[in-house]
Amino acid sequence: SAQHNNGVDIPRYVRVNTLKTTVEDVIDYLKREGFSYQGAASQLEDLCSLSGKTFMSDLHLQDLLVFSAKMDFHDHYLYKAGHIILQDKASCLPAYLLDPPVGGHVIDACAAPGNKTSHLAAIMKNKGKLFAFDIDTKRLSTMSTLLLRAGVTCHQLANEDFLKVDPLSPAYRDVTHILLDPSCSGSGMVCLHDGSSEEQEHDPERLKALAAFQLRCLNHALKFPKLQHLVYSTCSIHPQENEEVVSACLENNPDFRLIHLFPEWPERGRDPLTQCLRASTTKTFTHGFFVAMLERQATPNSESL
Ligand code: SAM
Repeated sequence: SAQHNNGVDIPRYVRVNTLKTTVEDVIDYLKREGFSYQGAASQLEDLCSLSGKTFMSDLHLQDLLVFSAKMDFHDHYLYKAGHIILQDKASCLPAYLLDPPVGGHVIDACAAPGNKTSHLAAIMKNKGKLFAFDIDTKRLSTMSTLLLRAGVTCHQLANEDFLKVDPLSPAYRDVTHILLDPSCSGSGMVCLHDGSSEEQEHDPERLKALAAFQLRCLNHALKFPKLQHLVYSTCSIHPQENEEVVSACLENNPDFRLIHLFPEWPERGRDPLTQCLRASTTKTFTHGFFVAMLERQATPNSESL
């Protein structure tokens, strides 16, 4: 359904699932159905000019198509067949930026309902191992359906508390990339999906508890011995859940540093964490979002080994 909250209309973003099809095939399919393809956007503002059955390619993300806010694909064949994933542009950033290698070993720490997992699998071309954890049984069963529809086969789903996953277990010895998208206040979401009220999103005690949980997850993730890159993301706009969590983590883990992400992206993390990205309805025409990427610093010894 159209997103009309707070008087904000953000475009409808559709990620092409490259495990099942190609961007060209989806564009051709839609054209045959009477959609009108406008080519690639050349500036952000173009994304807000869409109406009716016109659509374009995004200017930042290759596999993303952009439609008017009123377009709804939930009953569309391409969605039901898993050829397209209905995913906000900002929420496509974490997997895109983590960019795990084909055949790599990757963890999606808080994975359900699995949109980012399926994106990671597409980038990995379904090769390697994608360990996905979630603590919520119901969300995990939704996730199984989603991954099946999307044709994901390289994953191992586990109904586990990520904080209890042993980083030293032989199963995870080759994990080099982790995506951490933990529970957050959801304050960046234009539509509230999880029934939380606006009041709840600003409740200082709840924010404090969420931030403490997020920091524990982040510190835990950095304990995987072969980890090279980690992406941390939230759909929160509160610095307490974003820059402050990342800063605290870096203080605890001096062997990790921030990577300067996506220089052409228009909205940065709050000063001094400008290496990180933010997204918002007003500056990026997406939901509110935050992304940080940590990298293990090469130590003199590990390089010569
Ligand atoms: N990454 C998902 C996606 O793109 O579809 C969305 C993840 S959602 C923001 C956060 C998830 O973390 C929820 O599904 C929640 O059940 C899960 N979660 C909360 N605490 C957890 C824990 N201790 N271990 C693993 N998962 C947890």
